Amino acid sequence: MKLLEERIQQDGIIKGGNVLKVDSFLNHQMDIDLFVEMGKELKRLFADCPINKILTIEASGIGIACIVAQQFHVPVVFAKKAQSINIDGEVYSTKIQSFTHGKIYDVIVSKKYISSQDHILIIDDFLANGCALNGLIDLVQSAGATVEGIGIAIEKGFQKGGELIRAKGVRLESLAIVDSMDESTGTIEFRHRA
Ligand code: 5GP
Repeated sequence: MKLLEERIQQDGIIKGGNVLKVDSFLNHQMDIDLFVEMGKELKRLFADCPINKILTIEASGIGIACIVAQQFHVPVVFAKKAQSINIDGEVYSTKIQSFTHGKIYDVIVSKKYISSQDHILIIDDFLANGCALNGLIDLVQSAGATVEGIGIAIEKGFQKGGELIRAKGVRLESLAIVDSMDESTGTIEFRHRA
């Protein structure tokens, strides 16, 4: 998506450890006009899917997921990072390793909000190694629900997550795929579909 790529080129900051900072429009301050365009594009890409719910993970997926949900007219459920001591039979739970902090979290969703009837679009801001998405897919499968697809704002194509998720046969659409980024020169290159 050209608009998003241009914004990443303009305002993205490459940090050590393969981290791309987009705090000025996506992860801290949020540009809602840009989010609306991202929502429309994901609606277009998944127009043929019977999506009745959106699932994301707190915190940084929530803003995008809400704007995407407005296009689909469906509710958003966000998976919560939980203290393991609180986990009981009322929730589906999984473990996710945070890319940015390295910590392993228990992540939960109440059984009230995902059921076997649901057709779910998973939304997140970034895809790196795929841990967050694997965890979210696991939660959906625990509920017996269907993953209709996954919509990502920024995929870092040089990390392994995209390949792993696509190899599972899950439909994954990333609005921008960064193929390489160089901290020393500030250069970012994008992958373009044929
Ligand atoms: P994964 O689980 O795919 O390794 O990483 C995805 C999660 O880590 C996303 O939910 C996102 O919050 C965070 N993340 C991964 N890479 C980056 C990055 O380069 N920049 C930012 N801001 N967050 C990232």
